[in-house]
Amino acid sequence: MGYDSVKTDDGRTVLFSVEEFYEKIVLQNHCFICGAPPHSKEFNNEHILPDWLLAKYQLHSQIINLPNQLGQLYGKYTIPCCKDCNSELGDKVEIPMSKLLKLPFNEFTFALTNSHQNIGLLFQWLNLIFLKTHLKDMHFDWAMDKRKQSPKIGASYIWESMHHIHCIARAYYTAAQITPQAIGSVFIIPGIQHDSIPQFYFHDNTTAQTILFRMDEKVIICVLNDSCAVLNALTETLRKITAPVTHFQMCELFAIATHCNLSIKNRPVFFSEISGKGDYQIKADLPQLEFDKDKAGITVGELLYFQVKEMITKTPDTDRILAEIKENKRTYLFNPNGTFSDHQTDFQ
Ligand SMILES: [Zn+2]
Repeated sequence: MGYDSVKTDDGRTVLFSVEEFYEKIVLQNHCFICGAPPHSKEFNNEHILPDWLLAKYQLHSQIINLPNQLGQLYGKYTIPCCKDCNSELGDKVEIPMSKLLKLPFNEFTFALTNSHQNIGLLFQWLNLIFLKTHLKDMHFDWAMDKRKQSPKIGASYIWESMHHIHCIARAYYTAAQITPQAIGSVFIIPGIQHDSIPQFYFHDNTTAQTILFRMDEKVIICVLNDSCAVLNALTETLRKITAPVTHFQMCELFAIATHCNLSIKNRPVFFSEISGKGDYQIKADLPQLEFDKDKAGITVGELLYFQVKEMITKTPDTDRILAEIKENKRTYLFNPNGTFSDHQTDFQ
């Protein structure tokens, strides 16, 4: 951190300083990719969740829940982006990504395990969505009452850590090479497909910089800022998951990954390196990997509770179940003997 912005001779910004990123992109509605000021060229704005995805799951008229408890239509959920950047983003990221995500589960995982390029693309796409979601939060007030002065939801975010996400998200634009150390943990597991289970689901955790996507049978969990530490720590947990998961099992795994990331004692330090010839690399310094559960400041149960409390169907047992989740006394993934709790037959 702490570097100046770097521009090419033709005026393209390769690297924004943290200050310039915060002032122009976060506060002043410049194009979030190239940094062009509003009204300086044609803008057509960018959907937070790409259009192809909104169309596939018929989400245009559905409501996304915001941290202030208000809803916003997915179809109107956009951030400032100039027309040139929008079409480049489509060509270089969204079109190849939509092709990849249309593959059936096995072909999808095969395409990712056999290509560093595909993993890089998926990782960049997840950073892009996480970034867009959080930039948009600078447009929403915390207070529901419009007559009251209220800080923006995004005002409490630590934008310095979001700057790294911004560097990754626009790597396709700056031709930055994302080195393997700068890539975070990505888990892909199958989800049970059934009419009673949402086939599209999206959730993230701002503090931990973790993101969860479900699209059809593909469940994708990504830790954006851990240099694969969480993947290493959870290898055994993941090995035990031997069958497609339910919605709650998916949420529990996300809570476990989020908690694990929050427990990392010394975090990787990310930085950009641009050579004299202009080659740009995004790198990470990796400290000794150690975990400290107390550092997380929250339990897996509490994380799961906040995510699922609205999803539980109201029955006389609801309050007891929610209390058990919050107190870390309930696991959906594993049986008391530690084996995976396979629910596939419940959905046949
Ligand atoms: Zn632009």
